[in-house]
Amino acid sequence: MPIKDKPRPPRFSLFNNILLILAGVFLFVSFILPVFSRPQVSAVPYSLFIHQVREGDVARVQVGQNQIRFQLKSDEEIGSEQVGQVFSTTPIFDLSLPNLLEEKGVEFAATPPPTNGWVSNLLGWIIPPLIFVGIFQFFVRRGGGGGGAQGMLSIGKSKAKVYVEGEAAKTTFADVAGVDEAKTELVEVVDFLKTPGRYTQIGARIPKGVLLVGPPGTGKTLLAKAVAGEAGVPFFSISGSEFVEMFVGVGSSRVRDLFEQAKKEAPCIVFIDELDAIGKSRSSSGFYGGNDEREQTLNQLLSEMDGFAAEDATVIVLAATNRPEILDPALLRPGRFDRQVLVDRPALSGREAILKIHAQTVKLGEDIDLKAIATRTPGFAGADLANLVNEAALLAARNQRESVAQADFAEAIERLVAGLEKKSRVLNDREKKIVAYHEVGHAIVGSLMPGSGRVEKISIVSRGMSALGYTLQLPEEDRFLSDETELRGQIATLLGGRSAEEIVFNSITTGASNDLQRATDLAEQMVTTFGMSKILGPLAYQQGSRAMFLNEGVPNPRRMMSEATAEAIDREVKGIVETAHQQALDTLNHNRDILENITMRLLETEAIEGKSLYQLLDQVQAAAAI
Ligand code: ADP
Ligand code: MG
Ligand code: ZN
Repeated sequence: MPIKDKPRPPRFSLFNNILLILAGVFLFVSFILPVFSRPQVSAVPYSLFIHQVREGDVARVQVGQNQIRFQLKSDEEIGSEQVGQVFSTTPIFDLSLPNLLEEKGVEFAATPPPTNGWVSNLLGWIIPPLIFVGIFQFFVRRGGGGGGAQGMLSIGKSKAKVYVEGEAAKTTFADVAGVDEAKTELVEVVDFLKTPGRYTQIGARIPKGVLLVGPPGTGKTLLAKAVAGEAGVPFFSISGSEFVEMFVGVGSSRVRDLFEQAKKEAPCIVFIDELDAIGKSRSSSGFYGGNDEREQTLNQLLSEMDGFAAEDATVIVLAATNRPEILDPALLRPGRFDRQVLVDRPALSGREAILKIHAQTVKLGEDIDLKAIATRTPGFAGADLANLVNEAALLAARNQRESVAQADFAEAIERLVAGLEKKSRVLNDREKKIVAYHEVGHAIVGSLMPGSGRVEKISIVSRGMSALGYTLQLPEEDRFLSDETELRGQIATLLGGRSAEEIVFNSITTGASNDLQRATDLAEQMVTTFGMSKILGPLAYQQGSRAMFLNEGVPNPRRMMSEATAEAIDREVKGIVETAHQQALDTLNHNRDILENITMRLLETEAIEGKSLYQLLDQVQAAAAI
C-alpha cells in the first residue's frame, strides 16, 4: 500500500538524453567527419616515397606522426598553385629525411593541428567526463538494488519508500496470523507509538529498536507494516542491501538522510529489512581487510540510533533478519536493537489461520477443509501458504472450475513440497513422534538443570537445513563463567533428547549425533581445559591458548603426553558423559507421565511456547538419585 512513494524520474531522464546526443556529436566530429572531409589519397610504400623525393618529383611534404602526405610536382598550374597528385605513406624512423628534403628543395612542414576548431576541442574535454559520470550512475543504480532512479546529485539520498496510514488497504494485525507471541510483543510497540506520553511521563525509556528474527517468508515485513498500520504512523521502509554501495560513504549518508526524514515525520517507524546486509559483525569480515563501506554504514546506523533521544521524537526502528547470529554485537546492545522478537514458522493452528486469511480472496468450494490442508503442510512458512492458496486457485482456473476444490489444494501441495523439500523437510508420522519425544526430553532435563535458563519453546516444525525440531532455552543472563555442576547439567540436557528416545522406543536413531558431538566436546574441555577432573588435576592438556572459549567447538590438539595420560583423559571424558546420560535417563523415567503428556500436546500443536510451556514444565521433579 505505497501511497506517498517518492516521485520517480522517467527511466531516461532529460539529463541522459542530452548526454547521449552530446556523445553522438562528439563521435561524429572527432572520428567520422575527418574521414569524409579528408581528400582521398592512395597509400604508397615508404621506399617509393623516398625514391620520388630523390628523383625530384615531390613538390611538398606534410610530415605527421602517423602519416606522411606528399604532393607530386605537376606541369599544370591552377592560379599560382601547382596541383599534383597527393599520396600518403607511413613514416619509418628516419632522421635523415629533413636533410634529404632540404637537399632536394622540397617544401615541407609538420601536420598542422586538427582544424575542427574550438567546438571539438571543447567537446573533447567535456564529453569523456560526462560519459564517465553516466557509467558511474548506471552502476550506482544497479548497486542500489533497483530502487527509484534518481538524478546523479542525489546518490546519497535514502531510497526509503514511505507508507502513510489512512488508506483503506492498510495492513493490520488481522492480516498476520500464526505468530501470536510476536504479535503480543509488537502490540506493545504500537502502544509506544500511539501514546508515548504515558510512558515518558513516568520516566520510562521507549525502546528504540526491535529486531524481528526468523526464517524467510514468516511475515517479518508484514508484521512491521502491520505495526505502522495499527499505530497509524508513517512507515519508512528500506532494505539493508540498499545501503551497501560501491562507493565508500554513500551508504552512511543514506542512513543519515533516512533518519533526518524520519525525525521530521515522528512519531514514525523506520523499517530496515535484511539488516544482516549491513549489520555483519565487523570483526568477521576480516579476511579481506574488512569492508569499509559496510562498516561506515553500520557505524552511521549505530550513531543515528544513539543520536535521537526520546524527548525529541518517537522513532522506532524495526529491523528484520534471518541470520541474527552474524549481526554485530554492537547492534544488539541496550539502546539499540535490545528487543528481539522471534517470528517462527507457524505451527498447525497458525497455518490454518494463515490459510484462512489468504483464502478470503479466492472462491472456495464446498469441500474445502483448511484444517486438513494445514495438517499436510508442516514446515510451510506464511509466504509458502500464501503461495499455496494462489497455486490452488490457478489450478482451479486452468481446470475451468468455478471455485477452488480440495483436490486443487492437494495437487498444489504436491508441487510446492517438491520445491520446498530442499528447504524444509516433511516428516512422516513415526519420525514426527520420535522428534517430539526427543525435543521434550531436552526440555524436561533442561528445565531442571541449574544455570541454563528457562525453556522458552519446543517445536517440531523443522527449521533450516539441519534441525528437525528444536528446543529453545534462553539463558536468564549473560554467562561468562560456568561452574562444574552447570556444565554437567548442560551435558545432561544435550543427552536428554537421545535418552527420551531410548526410554520410549528402546532404540536409537541418527538424529542425536549433533547433541552427542557437543556433549562430548564439552566433557573433553572440562577435563583437558578447565581442569575439572580430580584424577587429572588442574592441568591444561591442550595445546595453545585458544581453548579458552566454552563454545568454540573445535577442540585443540592435545599437548604431548604419555599414553597413560591420554587413556586417563578418555576414561574421564567417558565417565562424565555417561554420568550425565544416567542423570538424564533417571530424570525422564521419574517424569515419564509428564514426558508423555507434553509430547502428546506437542504432536497436536507442533509447537509449545510461553506460559503454557512454563506451566507444563513446572511440574517436573528431580529424581531422588541425583
Ligand atoms: P519475511 O519478511 O519474513 O520474509 P514477508 O512478510 O515478506 O516475509 O511475507 C511475504 C508474504 O507472505 C506476505 O506478504 C504475506 O502475504 C504472506 N505471509 C507471510 N507470513 C504470514 C503470516 N504470518 N500471516 C499471513 N500472511 C503471511
Ligand atoms: Mg521480508
Ligand atoms: Zn537433540
